[in-house]
Order: sequence, then C-alpha cells, then structure tokens
Amino acid sequence: MTQTLERKVVLVTGASSGIGAATARTLATAGHHVILTARRTDRIKALAADLTTDGHSAEARPLDVTDAGQFHEVAEEVVNSHGRLDVLVGNAGVMLLSRLDALLVEEWDRMLDVNVRGLFNGIAATLPIFRRQGGGHFVTVASIGAHQVVETSAIYSATKYAAWALTEGLRLESEPSIRVTTISPGVVDTELADHITDPFAAESMREYRSALIRPEDIGNAIAYALNQPADVDVNEIILRPSAQR
Ligand code: NDP
Repeated sequence: MTQTLERKVVLVTGASSGIGAATARTLATAGHHVILTARRTDRIKALAADLTTDGHSAEARPLDVTDAGQFHEVAEEVVNSHGRLDVLVGNAGVMLLSRLDALLVEEWDRMLDVNVRGLFNGIAATLPIFRRQGGGHFVTVASIGAHQVVETSAIYSATKYAAWALTEGLRLESEPSIRVTTISPGVVDTELADHITDPFAAESMREYRSALIRPEDIGNAIAYALNQPADVDVNEIILRPSAQR
C-alpha cells in the first residue's frame, strides 16, 4: 500500500542532469522541498525554476562535492533556511572507464575525488546535522558496478564498492533514527558515458548500453525508500534493464 508522503527537506547532489535531475523532479512533484546542487548552476537554476513554476518547492545551490568546506556551508545554510535537512541523496558521480594499463591516472583520481571523497564530504557535512535533529536519511547512488567488475571498470567499480561500504558503515554505526539506502542501478540513459575518453572503453560501453532504463526509474526507487514508515529502512535497491546481464 502506498504511504502518504511526509514533506521532507532533501538535498540532491549532481542534480544538473540524469539521475539527479530526475530524482529532484520526482521528489519535488511528490511534495518534498528539494535543494538541487551541482557545479553547472545554469542547469540547476533552470530546473528549480521549472519546478517552482509548476507549483513545487525547489531551490538551486552551487556545490562541488569535492570541496568539503563548501559542502559544510551549503548544508548549514539549508538548516538555517528550513530548520532542518532530512535527506542527503549522494548522487554526484563520474564514470571514466578504461583498462588499468591505459594508465589514465588523472581520471582515476577524478573518480576517487567525486565518487568517494564527495561522499566523505557529504557525510561530514550532514551526519552532525542528522544527529542534532534526531534523524535523517542517507541515500547513496552506487551502481551495479558496486557488485560486479567488468573489463575497464576496475577503478570505477572500486569507487562504487567504496560507496557501498561507506553506506553500510553508516547503517551499522548510526542510531535507528538515521536510515541509509544504497541504490545500485544498471545501465541508465544519461550523459554519464559521454565523458569516457578511452576509445576501447567507449566502444565497449556502446554495446553494453544497448538496453537502458530511464533516470526517472531511479528517482522512483529513491522515492520508494524515502516513503517507508520511519522504522523501515530500505537498505539496498538493485535495478537494471531486464535485458541487462
Ligand atoms: P550524469 O553525467 O548525467 O550526471 C552526473 C552528475 O554528477 C551531474 O549532475 C554532475 O553535475 C555531477 N557531478 C560531477 N562531478 C561533480 C562534482 N565535482 N561536484 C558536484 N557534482 C558533480 O550521469 P548519471 O545521472 O548517470 O550519474 C549519476 C550517478 O549515478 C553517478 O554517481 C553514477 O555513477 C551513477 N550511476 C549511473 C548509471 C548509468 O548508467 N547512468 C548506472 C549506475 C550508477 P555538474 O557537472 O553540473 O557538477
């Protein structure tokens, strides 16, 4: 049975495109207040304006998740403006696939910085707030890559295994009023793969992406996890195209 949604204040990282943008739209449409964050401020401002015009509650705030100080400031500003922050959707990520022997070390570092350090920064900025207010919900967008490694995905998968482990650690160490959810999508139709620079990985990805699900499918899964009664903690959802192996 569908529950009536309690209005929550939700901060979404990487809300300028793909899964983050779709999640922001789904959650705002469901009645939550959504803070869209990303580096491409023109995009988050445009989406927040669209949502507001449609009668929903949304705002945009610039945030580079690799900047711990900025993450802290944004989270505290949200609490100052709204009195609380209920949910952090840690979605920002990059997937710069390549074989290890291509040695694209700068891209390895970028994935580590955004996909892992970005989550550290989110936890550091929001865990004290969740503790202070007596509850909160961490949603981490990991990947099917947190469960399997394929050729070219070693570093990306390593960052997503780390995302899984961090979220599980939060579950074990947090009081029951703090819930945690890891969302592990298969192939989703977004801009993610467009940033791959390695020709071999780009070609392999073209085949891999022959079956796709939509970003809003992931937004709906996140809404499902948020919408459970406070004593129900949906710890992990894996969803993929039914044709994906
Ligand atoms: P997109 O490329 O469409 O979105 C990535 C988002 O991350 C953008 O909004 C981008 O915003 C943001 N981002 C990148 N770097 C930073 C940064 N330093 N600080 C803040 N935001 C940043 O891809 P998806 O929507 O697909 O990706 C979202 C998440 O889903 C990622 O974590 C990805 O690993 C995961 N995922 C995606 C799958 C897929 O098939 N698409 C499958 C499994 C998991 P901006 O550049 O404006 O800062």
